[in-house]
Amino acid sequence: MSSFQDFGLSRRVQQAVDGMGFEEPSPIQAACIPLVLDGRDVIGQAQTGTGKTAAFGIPIVEMVAPEARVQALVLTPTRELAIQVAGEFRKIGKFKRVRTLPIYGGQSIGHQIRALQQGVHVVIGTPGRVLDHIRRGTLRFNDLKMVVLDEADEMLDMGFIEDIETILQETPADRQTMLFSATFTPEIRRLALRYMRNPEHVTVNRGEITVPLTDQVFYKVLERNKLESLCRVIDSEEVQLGIIFCRTKRGVDELVEALLSRGYLVDGLHGDLSQAQRDRVMRKFRNNEIELLVATDVAARGLDVENVTHVVNYDIPQDPESYVHRIGRTGRAGKRGLAITLVTPREFKLLKQIERETKTQIVGREVPSLEDVAERQAEIWRNRLVETIQSGGLGHYRAILGNIVDDYDPIDIACAALKLASAGELEAEQKDEYDFGDTGATPGMVRFFVNIGRTAHIGPADLVRAISEEAGVPGQVVGKIDIFDRFTFVEIEEESAPFVYEALRKSRINGARVNMEPAKPRSRVR
Ligand code: AMP
Repeated sequence: MSSFQDFGLSRRVQQAVDGMGFEEPSPIQAACIPLVLDGRDVIGQAQTGTGKTAAFGIPIVEMVAPEARVQALVLTPTRELAIQVAGEFRKIGKFKRVRTLPIYGGQSIGHQIRALQQGVHVVIGTPGRVLDHIRRGTLRFNDLKMVVLDEADEMLDMGFIEDIETILQETPADRQTMLFSATFTPEIRRLALRYMRNPEHVTVNRGEITVPLTDQVFYKVLERNKLESLCRVIDSEEVQLGIIFCRTKRGVDELVEALLSRGYLVDGLHGDLSQAQRDRVMRKFRNNEIELLVATDVAARGLDVENVTHVVNYDIPQDPESYVHRIGRTGRAGKRGLAITLVTPREFKLLKQIERETKTQIVGREVPSLEDVAERQAEIWRNRLVETIQSGGLGHYRAILGNIVDDYDPIDIACAALKLASAGELEAEQKDEYDFGDTGATPGMVRFFVNIGRTAHIGPADLVRAISEEAGVPGQVVGKIDIFDRFTFVEIEEESAPFVYEALRKSRINGARVNMEPAKPRSRVR
């Protein structure tokens, strides 16, 4: 098992990585970082969720020189990825004061030019806009040393090959080139052959994977209400002892806080705790003083606890091995456990990969609705009331009630007492996911406006395929589709609409950038 200390990073970069809460390098990082630091060209086969961004981000930040000249260029297929990658770079380069700039179409070019003039170390951009700046002479590569093609397969799918080649030809021939891609197609091979020097091919080693005796389910959740979804899932399960996995130390701390404030019996475990703290948490867990333990992969590795009924992947694991490790914490000693994975629309492909490589089926389940949870909680309170009545000893309270019984309806009094006792718990806000309002859709459906149409060579079949692949929903949830020259209206079943919205709002179909918005009712075409 490697550690970030093994890479010999400079103090300021190491400090930044510590601050990000990463406990140990993910497999792709363990393989890539030393190679990149060594100046090698690298092809990394990895997708979103594996930690690939830091796999090139950490060594690049480590290697940039202090002068604010463009020394590294990262090409990404979409503006969203550019922004995300820039964010990750900013965190890694926080103490080294590495300046990064995302440049993409759709944003004022003037602003980007001004920012470039002020000096940046790393530019992250989409091919079209990068080329635009090269042509204007506002982006110069005299000091460029490193180029990354991120999500290369996506870029090629979108028809960026010519732009990419033009850009690469503009960069110094002695640059270091890194290419990351989820798939390794002949086109990528060709690109690598032409533009990379003796690249090292890194795939995350996948030994034999044996999956323990555990039922496995996943819930599709939205990023923005992941916590709420987690709570609902936990509330709908009989969890006796559960381990919840988070990706980072900070993630553990935040989740513990959030769950404590919602009244769960929970504690956290990660590498920053002292041995004494660790022992205390473990003792509580073993003695059933807590029902849930939130942990990072590293912290959970040495755990030896029996009777874990549930393992919950709050953050999806970064690779199939770690999935298997995590779920192996339950279902031991011949007892069946349940492994639950929360998956956001963007992580859906990683889930599919895990399923493929572990050769198991992870069954999809619906997050319980607020009504389901509310009903369950109401039932719990009714049972408590009945138990309290049956166990007697209420005389003291009868005296406290005094003569308000003469003035008020006993049912009202009981309701008021319940309200006080439940401390608002039973009045959970009835707010669910997105409210798309009236979109002029057929009942039961949500109608979306999509900003591409016939001129982007898109047909109904492309749209249905994109929707079902990106959002991980069956094609049947797509209803009526009206394609016009420059835009499209598409109806999606209400239940799937938030997923489709979150997954497709930031994506591409046939290379065209997609903007998806709930339709306005009056835009209905009759
Ligand atoms: P990526 O695959 O680059 O999109 O990264 C997915 C997520 O994992 C991001 O939120 C990263 O900040 C996070 N991450 C990257 N490396 C690590 C690591 N070694 N430990 C924990 N989290 C990580």
